[in-house]
Amino acid sequence: GYAGGLISGLPVTSMAAISYCRITPRSMIIILDETVTEEQIQHVADKVAQLGLQTSISRGTYRTVIGVIGDETILQSAPLRAIPGVAEVVPVMPAYKLASKQAHPKPTIVEVGPVKIGGGYMAMIAGPCAVESPERMESIAKSVRAAGANIFRGGAFKPRTSPYSFQGLGEDGLKILRDVGAKHGMPVVTEVVDPRHVELVCEYADMIQLGARNMQNFVLLTEVGRTNKPVLMKRGMSATVADLLMSAEYIMAQGNSNVVLCERGVKGFDPATRNTFDVALVPQIHKLSHLPIIVDPSHATGRPELIPACALAGVAAGADGVHIEVHDKPEEAMSDGPQALLPKQYAELMDQIRKVAAAVGKQMG
Ligand code: PEP
Ligand code: MN
Repeated sequence: GYAGGLISGLPVTSMAAISYCRITPRSMIIILDETVTEEQIQHVADKVAQLGLQTSISRGTYRTVIGVIGDETILQSAPLRAIPGVAEVVPVMPAYKLASKQAHPKPTIVEVGPVKIGGGYMAMIAGPCAVESPERMESIAKSVRAAGANIFRGGAFKPRTSPYSFQGLGEDGLKILRDVGAKHGMPVVTEVVDPRHVELVCEYADMIQLGARNMQNFVLLTEVGRTNKPVLMKRGMSATVADLLMSAEYIMAQGNSNVVLCERGVKGFDPATRNTFDVALVPQIHKLSHLPIIVDPSHATGRPELIPACALAGVAAGADGVHIEVHDKPEEAMSDGPQALLPKQYAELMDQIRKVAAAVGKQMG
């Protein structure tokens, strides 16, 4: 269950992280300058020894390198690069450990109620951007469910760029979302924007969304990590692959390993689309991590006419799910109306997604 109040400090290193370090004998390689002196080499080796780690020195014709053996967490905060004679410090393992494929070679399957995500199972997340009236939610839920969606979405707390935009219905919205989802047999995902609301949102949601704007809100990540709720973590709009995985690590370091990543477009130079859809993130994540990754072509493109092709591209690239905003009256939507697919368009897209999913050996979770 939910274990925290407001967070009190930095995340603790979990037992899993510690045991993972033990299976990593060589943890860092220190490459020395071509002009390094014997004295400098000895000084570097002494510094590393002072940290309680072992070294193995390899002298090549042009370059000498020092392999460091031991717990790399000790090394992470040591400014080795500042020692005279050191050219480069190369970690052997990525800084994200729990999220890495080395830690867990098989794909993780995250379960959201009865829905499986990852390892061949796909999440079909659909719903309006914001939770609206019960009647509106009811009609959208009915149509997306009939089309094959398996998780219902809607934001009750909206992270809006403008403070004057609709901020969401709050707890009333959470209740509507939960009740409508339950009525139509779909678990629900909704965003949390404030560490003080994590406990409240957990009461209603089956999955917690961390939005692009909060991907590096480490206080929020830590707080969400202390729950056992599955997490949908959206890529920050200028986050690198490593940034995204480090943010997943924040959640996992607290003991919650139910993290699903989401590509939702990054800032590009061309205002023709809302963002730039980085479909290559999908195979990159599958190479580096065991965590599932889904695509959100709604926020990635911001244009209904581009969404179907991008959704299919994501599935073809191996995505573990598709997240799409659907509204039956986009012109009346409280948020993101211009990018919403109509229920009919969503149903047509789902027919195509099923074909591509079958071609790549995936099934609906
Ligand atoms: C959303 O899902 O409505 C949303 C705000 O997404 P993002 O955080 O990706 O912008
Ligand atoms: Mn939205």
